[in-house]
Amino acid sequence: MQETTKKLTKYTSRAQLVENILAWNDWSGLPTREAQYVQTFKDIYARLLRSNADKFPLVEFIQKHKLSQTEVFLLLRLSALDLQRIMVAGNYQVNTLLEKGQIIGKRAELLSILIDRKSALFTEGIFAAIGGRIDLKKNFLALATSQKRKTKKRTLNPQRVLTQLNKYVIGQDEAKKQLVAGVFEHLVKCASAKNGKTFNKSNIFISGPTGTGKTYMCECLAKILNIPFVHADASQYTQTGYVGMDVSDVLRPLAKEAKAGKLPISIVFIDEIDKIRQGSEREGGAASTNVQAELLRLIESNFYRLETKLSLGKSIHKLDISQVLFVVGGAFENLQVKHADKSVGFTQEPVTKGRKLTAEDYIAYGMMPELIGRFSYFVQLKGLEKDDLRQILLNPHNGPLQQYKELLHTSTQVSPTIIENLLNEAYERHLGARGLHQQVGQLFQAQFLENKVQIEI
Ligand code: ADP
Repeated sequence: MQETTKKLTKYTSRAQLVENILAWNDWSGLPTREAQYVQTFKDIYARLLRSNADKFPLVEFIQKHKLSQTEVFLLLRLSALDLQRIMVAGNYQVNTLLEKGQIIGKRAELLSILIDRKSALFTEGIFAAIGGRIDLKKNFLALATSQKRKTKKRTLNPQRVLTQLNKYVIGQDEAKKQLVAGVFEHLVKCASAKNGKTFNKSNIFISGPTGTGKTYMCECLAKILNIPFVHADASQYTQTGYVGMDVSDVLRPLAKEAKAGKLPISIVFIDEIDKIRQGSEREGGAASTNVQAELLRLIESNFYRLETKLSLGKSIHKLDISQVLFVVGGAFENLQVKHADKSVGFTQEPVTKGRKLTAEDYIAYGMMPELIGRFSYFVQLKGLEKDDLRQILLNPHNGPLQQYKELLHTSTQVSPTIIENLLNEAYERHLGARGLHQQVGQLFQAQFLENKVQIEI
């Protein structure tokens, strides 16, 4: 300790001191300047250990890594300084700055935790007690707003978004273009609504065989745009008043993010709409038509009264849902389409075989005309060919093989024969890319048991 302290005192500037501590691997001693805080720090450390890890990521971090009190002390002090550096760098991106400042490993993890609102407020007290000079609360709040402003100012370009989407979603070119166009129409409308203009929403209806990317496409798009995405299953809904979930439940995850009663720009994907065709049997006696009618009420209006049952009575929140884009989808696998000349009624030809479906087809299938009338875009996905499946399987951007390799931290190469067998089987199963995930999962199952992965929980 003497040694280290001596070494440190020769640094005159704070910055040099910090640089030295950053490179310092021996945690057994404390620099003199910090020694005066030791007793206070011991008390704080004891308190930290007693604290509730569920509540504070910082405490969780300290407990998970079993940090000694010296480590915690130094990390907190250094983090205060790191944070100070980060705060002064305008227009920052936490990750880039962490990388540039070569703040890595545990300290990087700690820093990102400190930037978490709950922990920041909690650690402010700790910094104050151990002599930290940073006003974390003030800086943290400034940080949050600058981050928000940054999000608002993003310039989005549909072509660039499409290029990004192409990396993840294989094939389905026409569908991807339509989807991006529909979402951009929505974004433009949301922007012009800020100037007081009102608009009708451009909701999207999406159909196509199972496992071909209906959900994936929307989810990827929401990720690229950095907007919330909610997925729901229409077949789970019962009519309001019946036991079970009702259509409005889809808004609940977003309601938490409402600002002044207005939900954020977001995509809500309601899947399995074909399962609530008119006349289809429902459990609990709720008529499909009524569920469709409730769905219509949800997607046609800009405001929604969301009811929450309380132990005594109920509470009602009026929500502005004008920024929520609804995408409604289903496989419609058994949809029988009319012959081109319309003379012989329905055929047994499945939707995958190809012609463009129209609103009339969906109505004939059992969707309410009023509901179908609410969609501006009809997007239709194709069945995936073996070549599409191959590209999906080998896709370095989140493809199934890549996902498992990352999970297992392995670079194992799968032989071409195995890949071919896997593709054949997946193709035979008619589950689209969903089949692929199952096959690859089986392939890697054994590796999870070979003790190759060490997990701390
Ligand atoms: P569905 O059409 O039934 O909604 P999903 O979109 O949920 O199917 O697809 C299931 C999974 O298969 C996705 O999570 C994704 O990993 C993969 N997948 C499906 N279609 C594609 C595609 N066109 N490109 C890349 N991956 C796909």
